[in-house]
Amino acid sequence: MSELFFLITIDTEGDNIWETTVNSKVTTKHASHLFRFQDMCESFDFIPTYLTNYEMAKSDAFVELGRNGLSRNKLEIGAHIHAWNQPPYYPLVPKLGEKGKPYLSEYPRWVIRRKLENITGLLGDTFGVPITSHRGGRWCLNDVIVEELVRLNYIVDCTCTPYMNWEKVSGYTWGSGGPNYEKHNNEPYKLTSKRYKEDPQAYLIEVPTTIEKIGKRNSIQWLRPKGNNLPALKEIVRKRAAEGKHVEFMLHSSELDYGTNPIFRNKGMIDLLYRDIEELFLYAKELGYKGSGLTAFARQISV
Ligand SMILES: [Zn+2]
Repeated sequence: MSELFFLITIDTEGDNIWETTVNSKVTTKHASHLFRFQDMCESFDFIPTYLTNYEMAKSDAFVELGRNGLSRNKLEIGAHIHAWNQPPYYPLVPKLGEKGKPYLSEYPRWVIRRKLENITGLLGDTFGVPITSHRGGRWCLNDVIVEELVRLNYIVDCTCTPYMNWEKVSGYTWGSGGPNYEKHNNEPYKLTSKRYKEDPQAYLIEVPTTIEKIGKRNSIQWLRPKGNNLPALKEIVRKRAAEGKHVEFMLHSSELDYGTNPIFRNKGMIDLLYRDIEELFLYAKELGYKGSGLTAFARQISV
């Protein structure tokens, strides 16, 4: 039987992103609380992948956590982009009425390229390692982004959210929306673009965020703790373990502290979250799951 891997992906980004606007100053207060989470992962020999965006790459506390963990091979640093808060800045023409924050796909190609180059260079310089894993902000991915990631030597992407369709979730400009992942499931696949179809070397490995259909009603459940969904999280892990498959847990870094996200508003709630995570990790460990960074996992699978 093949090994079971428990992947942990943390979208590592500023406080309360959901409540900010395109022009807000983003803070990173929660960064110093991530040591608690890192310690918990290490106590289970799990290796979180912090998909890190611009403001967190400039947070002293997070840089300390990242460098220290990397020096001991206890974590991976990947890239995450919030297109509106990532140099170089470029003014989009906003649509009238209700709009969301911009998707990376809304920018001209040369801007997409420069934004991806910028975050990759910043993270590489800050942490002193090659950056080879990526997740798009607002779950955004398209052919142009894939081509640029391949060009920048990325190996793995984890933007895919199986069964979810973000097309009707507005971006910033007229006619904008997110990708449609309705036809995808949780299995990793080769991610190519139209331009690179002929080149067998030019691809990323897509390792989707684990989202399963569970229960009698086949309800869609993410492997993402909400403070009240431990039984569902365990069911996903149990189901995947029975199939001999990996899982990919996801959470935002700002959800690992209280008051910096809309779900966990006080100390009591955050303690319950940590309790749920600990119980889930323990359960996964008992089922035989082992830790791996995203890139190490992608390197050893065949797609
Ligand atoms: Zn994000």
